[in-house]
Amino acid sequence: MRAFVHSLGCRVNQYEAQFLREHLAGLPGEGEIHVVNTCTVTALADRKARQLVRRLKRNHSGALVVAVGCGADRAGARLRAAGADLVVGNRDKARLRSWIEAFLQGRPPPDGGWIPMDEERVAGPMARVRALLKVQDGCTQACAFCRTWQVRGPLRSKTPAVARDEAAALARAGHREIVIVGINLAQYGQDLPHRPSLVDLLRELLQVDGVRFRLSSLNPEGVSGELVALFAREPRLCPYLHLPLQSGDDQVLQRMRRAYTAAEYRERAQMFLAAVPRATLGADVMVGFPGEDDAAFRRTAELLADLEPLNVHIFRFSPRPGTTAAGLRPPVPAEVAAQRAAELADLAAGWSRAARRRFLGEVLQVLVEEEDRGLLWGHAENYLWVGVRGTRIAPRGTMVATRLVQVDEGHMLGVMVDR
Ligand code: SF4
Repeated sequence: MRAFVHSLGCRVNQYEAQFLREHLAGLPGEGEIHVVNTCTVTALADRKARQLVRRLKRNHSGALVVAVGCGADRAGARLRAAGADLVVGNRDKARLRSWIEAFLQGRPPPDGGWIPMDEERVAGPMARVRALLKVQDGCTQACAFCRTWQVRGPLRSKTPAVARDEAAALARAGHREIVIVGINLAQYGQDLPHRPSLVDLLRELLQVDGVRFRLSSLNPEGVSGELVALFAREPRLCPYLHLPLQSGDDQVLQRMRRAYTAAEYRERAQMFLAAVPRATLGADVMVGFPGEDDAAFRRTAELLADLEPLNVHIFRFSPRPGTTAAGLRPPVPAEVAAQRAAELADLAAGWSRAARRRFLGEVLQVLVEEEDRGLLWGHAENYLWVGVRGTRIAPRGTMVATRLVQVDEGHMLGVMVDR
């Protein structure tokens, strides 16, 4: 059977889509299977999953359509109503092959609990240039606005040695950058016998030569002095941290049930920026959380202004049924939230320009991801998006030393340096 995996949502889901592609390869029999790896982070994500199931069912008559993942856990009945033949939640996602075989043979689904993270591995190559490596799942933080932790099961971490072997396979498959992903990387290792830290994991991964490593989103409580020191001395750790802030106001943070104060966020972000050469920052912000008044919003903007992040992802709070935040008062009127989001987006564009301007004239390593308008495009180690004028052929997936010569809207321009 030919299996096609369609993925919605975050990078963890994208990694799992690759896992499913490898896991379902060579299924015996005729016909097509379409797997929709769903996301439930917003109502829109739920709707997109249902639309995709409907479209696949309509366009591929006779194919088996399977919905898996976060949306399948939260809204399985609605996915079934949209046309999914089989709905499998996160707990059994990594056993999908056995589920499909049982379904096709009319047997009941296999038993089992959450599979250990060490059994969830990929070999690559992935279609994307920057490979993903999942090292952690689950979250016990229980943020008031979040549904993810409700569907991701218990904390599970991959042991450092297993992650290292997986990284080595991805490097052998030709990847030059590996992005380390998890649901809450700040909780990495807490479930393992010797409680290895994120620093222990990174040290192990760095034994794999010829590849650079990037952390995807990391909650601020995960930024330790030891972690910053490792980033400061190890050029193969990409000097970019995406630290979700959500709010710069302590009361709002507390109501959100976040694990840090605004001062702690500032201190950790500044420590990273000061200690790590060429470092830049990204942040997530949620505007319009219940109880966010104008002063609270100002504190958020002021905190970010001091840090000049390269990227700010702005979300407008919308109550998700089944979360604590859905019942919190007082709500922020939609037009006020929209205004705040627009103001923040304007400010963020200025901070991003300022962050990029700091690197004019520097030589950075750009990993080529695409070619467009006569330029090679890719991310530098500190996540700057750079258009490179080439002096030689550099295929997708190769690293090019690039001198940055111009700041442009949303990106930088550079010239390849022959070394
Ligand atoms: S840290 Fe908060 S936002 Fe992130 S997955 Fe856990 S509960 Fe959700």
